Amino acid sequence: MKKLSGIVLFIVFLMFSTLDTAKVASGDPPKRGDNTMVKNIHWLGHDTFRITGEKVIYTDPFKIKKKDTADIILITHEHYDHCSPEDVKKIQGPDTVIVTVADCAKKLSGKIKIVKPGDKINAEGIEIEAVPSYNTNKQFHTKERGWAGYIFTVQGQRIYIAGDTDYIPEMKSFKADIALLPVSGTYVMTADEAVKAALDIKPKIAIPMHYGAIVGSKDDAKRFAEELKGKITVEILQEE
Ligand SMILES: [Zn+2]
Repeated sequence: MKKLSGIVLFIVFLMFSTLDTAKVASGDPPKRGDNTMVKNIHWLGHDTFRITGEKVIYTDPFKIKKKDTADIILITHEHYDHCSPEDVKKIQGPDTVIVTVADCAKKLSGKIKIVKPGDKINAEGIEIEAVPSYNTNKQFHTKERGWAGYIFTVQGQRIYIAGDTDYIPEMKSFKADIALLPVSGTYVMTADEAVKAALDIKPKIAIPMHYGAIVGSKDDAKRFAEELKGKITVEILQEE
């Protein structure tokens, strides 16, 4: 009797595990708020994201509250609110790889890979492309500085972090599934300009950033989402 119930349990277990596999294999398109990749993206304010999945990846660490060990840190340019040595220290271990541009690299130590727009590298098994990031209608981030945005692949999804950029013609050629775009105006694109950027890049999901810390407010993020309604899914992340 004991043996029989064991067999029944095993069959039930098999049925459920097959069901589960079928569900995963059906390839349903990701729904708003139900995307596993977005669940791996944690917004820590400004342009700081902690992205999990295969590796622990941080972007532009600034005002880090919790100590952590990053596998990879991506830094877009040398301004203090993006390239912050004291914040890097809070998440840097002996094996952490920092990917950044030359002028930020000068402020940091450890394992650093220096890149410029156009470069493609592999860090810790993650494919990373450095792409142009600059202002067109202001002078805070000129093209000559050679600062970068990044497109990197996590679990098959291409994630684009724009850095401090305006809406630039190169965006038409960027291929990204998830785009992290600044919306505050002043030093970077306004929400209206970020809408144009999103429509050019055509990601599955756009996430507004660069507001609520130095310039810009949640209203900018909301305007961005409102204008893209019915065109591109926008996820406004809660700051963690
Ligand atoms: Zn900047």
